[in-house]
Amino acid sequence: MSEAIRIHENDNVAVMVSAIGRGELLPAFGIHALQDIPQGHKIALRDLKHGEPVVRYGVELGNLVRDIPAGTWVVDDLFELPPSPALSDLKAGGKGAYPSRLPERRTWMGFEIPGYPYAGTRNILGISTTVQCVAGPLRVAVDRIRREILPKYPHVDDVSPLIHPYGCGVAIDAPDAYIPIRSIRNLIRNPNFGGEIMLVSLGCEKLTVDRLLSSEEIAPDNVIVLQECRGFSGMIDAICTLAEKKLAILDERRRTELPLSRLCIGTQCGGSDAFSGISANPSIGYAFDLLAAGGATVMFSEVTEVRDGVHLLAQRCSSQETVENLKREIGWYDAYLARGGADRSANPTPGNHAGGLSNIVEKAMGSIAKSGHAPICEVVGPGQIPSKGGLVFAATPASDIVCGPTQLASGITLQVFSTGRGTPYSLREAPVIKIATRHELLERWPDLFDVDAGFIITGEKTIPEVGMELYDMILDVASGRESEAEKLGLYNDLIIDNPAPIT
Ligand code: CA
Repeated sequence: MSEAIRIHENDNVAVMVSAIGRGELLPAFGIHALQDIPQGHKIALRDLKHGEPVVRYGVELGNLVRDIPAGTWVVDDLFELPPSPALSDLKAGGKGAYPSRLPERRTWMGFEIPGYPYAGTRNILGISTTVQCVAGPLRVAVDRIRREILPKYPHVDDVSPLIHPYGCGVAIDAPDAYIPIRSIRNLIRNPNFGGEIMLVSLGCEKLTVDRLLSSEEIAPDNVIVLQECRGFSGMIDAICTLAEKKLAILDERRRTELPLSRLCIGTQCGGSDAFSGISANPSIGYAFDLLAAGGATVMFSEVTEVRDGVHLLAQRCSSQETVENLKREIGWYDAYLARGGADRSANPTPGNHAGGLSNIVEKAMGSIAKSGHAPICEVVGPGQIPSKGGLVFAATPASDIVCGPTQLASGITLQVFSTGRGTPYSLREAPVIKIATRHELLERWPDLFDVDAGFIITGEKTIPEVGMELYDMILDVASGRESEAEKLGLYNDLIIDNPAPIT
């Protein structure tokens, strides 16, 4: 028997839990399908007129371009994308709310760093770079460190080369160059690197060491300049020698019991489908509400995916100052897209459409569900570190491989990643917990996920049940349990966003 999910009482479409054949009855709604409709796609619940809005999540996705009868497969070209909400008149609404009861478990086991607001979930030697030019020798050195040196320091989890595409051949003083520079400067200081700084530079690049480190930090114990080394073997020896000094320091560290206020985590989604906003993302929102209420810093991002719900986010901002920051960041992105001859309709992917997501409004409503219902305490720009606990909007592109490193720069030590279509995305510098929107994904990739939110679609579990499962998983993984992606050794490259010109 076919079933469909209607999320909001005002919705005039429902999402098919499984595919339905032409002529088949949808018993809960008393209508017959007029076409074969795939899983995750929308069916019209009543006759709808030309010009009437298609409504899902209680939100208008766009106006119909012709009359359609009940039972119609509501495909993308039946309705038009509405204009984005205006930024000019956004006001703080005080509508955010914390859950009334908190779980008893409100501590975790992390690596504290004196003077840092957040503690680490992992104990990693991060070897930073000023420029992509040094990638070759650094990769050779890191292979040797992993093979020959790291085994001597059993309390260190990993060695991670922070190789990024920025650093030279760029307009370093262009107005938007602050974004990659700030991102790299803060990435170096991610709490998972234990407060130890090790920077490999070339010697003639535009991103000079003093743009990344303070004058006290610029010392032979923190910085290697490859052009000052004798030959390739000199470079490798210099990197390995300094790495061993740092590993000996990191190896002394131990986990201690810490309050949630020392935890900073992020979330993003990738390869979304029509179930993202029904199962996985509201479960993340549930867990994040509990963590935020307990004092943790929890971060959501992906500007193009919240653009169409910006008025809803403004209503949850705790102050007008936060709304102004939201307007600044979203406005910057609107202008950035316009400069590139694009708008937010460029966001949905072919996979999103195949998964039943018609346009960016529908995708946005599902994406925003990750942020739960808590008040938005702060809005930060790309790669900026938040100043207070609670729910934070950190402006980043929605691109998975850019959002990940940008959130790392903002200080996250763990990321929760939801997917409906499936992606092996992960990070090396922080554990990534993967949550699937539907069972079918786990049947295809049973060894890639930590949490299955598909139980919500089939009615076997509720959002609070999966949300609590995720809450416990977050604290377990933050405290040292390996995520599935970590076990498999999966990670993506560190793509630092550079909206400024390349020269
Ligand atoms: Ca994403």
